[in-house]
Amino acid sequence: MRKPLIAGNWKMNTTVDEAVALVYKMIESLDKIRNVEKVICPPFISLAALAERIKDSPIKLGAQNMYFEGKGAYTGEISPLMLDDLCQFVIIGHSERRQYFNETDEIINNKVKAALKYGIKPILCVGEKLEGNEAGKTAKIVSQQLGSALADVDSLGGTVIAYEPVWAIGTGRSATGEQANETIGLIRLKITSLYDEEVAQNVRLLYGGSVTDENIAEFIKQTEIDGALVGGASLKAEQFISIVKQTAEISGS
Ligand code: PEP
Repeated sequence: MRKPLIAGNWKMNTTVDEAVALVYKMIESLDKIRNVEKVICPPFISLAALAERIKDSPIKLGAQNMYFEGKGAYTGEISPLMLDDLCQFVIIGHSERRQYFNETDEIINNKVKAALKYGIKPILCVGEKLEGNEAGKTAKIVSQQLGSALADVDSLGGTVIAYEPVWAIGTGRSATGEQANETIGLIRLKITSLYDEEVAQNVRLLYGGSVTDENIAEFIKQTEIDGALVGGASLKAEQFISIVKQTAEISGS
């Protein structure tokens, strides 16, 4: 049985004070929902403050990125060693990192391996751009991204995979439940071919791309979708709480 997971990617939003205030608005309601794993991914500088605030809560923290070396002369970077005490998850390969910061498949693969080495669970993002989608190449692109990101990764160690079609991120134009379920089903098949059936049945696969409290149900009802990676809507306490609540109700475990 895969426990549903809802992760909020706050991106480059919130000062430390704003981040703490936002968590305070959510914490009481989220704590009551036990059958969904809740992960908040604030900016790096808020991780320590939030770790302190949620230490008695089942809410987990994730970073939005990290470098793949443990330490050294890499000005401005944050290492898995620094994150290890603060968070349980790290988003890797988000399309905004691929697009604006030139993250290659090789970098993403190194980051996945580094996160696992330090015991942090990657939330690995894959997804096609609009032109790939329109050319009917979604399955091929996603399969290639997965193969590269997971090269020489012997054990998934709690890795979560988020299917995020780039054309759906921050656009208000989400995929349909059926579209997302189809591609996520293919991701599970790819995991079977890279590992085995048991690994594929245990890995949690999320949908991400313009998820809101109005469309979350459409995704959670699908057989292959185990949760969501939520951007914009995770910055609004009421919406995020509603997304988690609906997930709990629909999955009903
Ligand atoms: C994201 O940042 O991963 C995301 C899916 O954003 P949004 O929900 O705003 O589309």
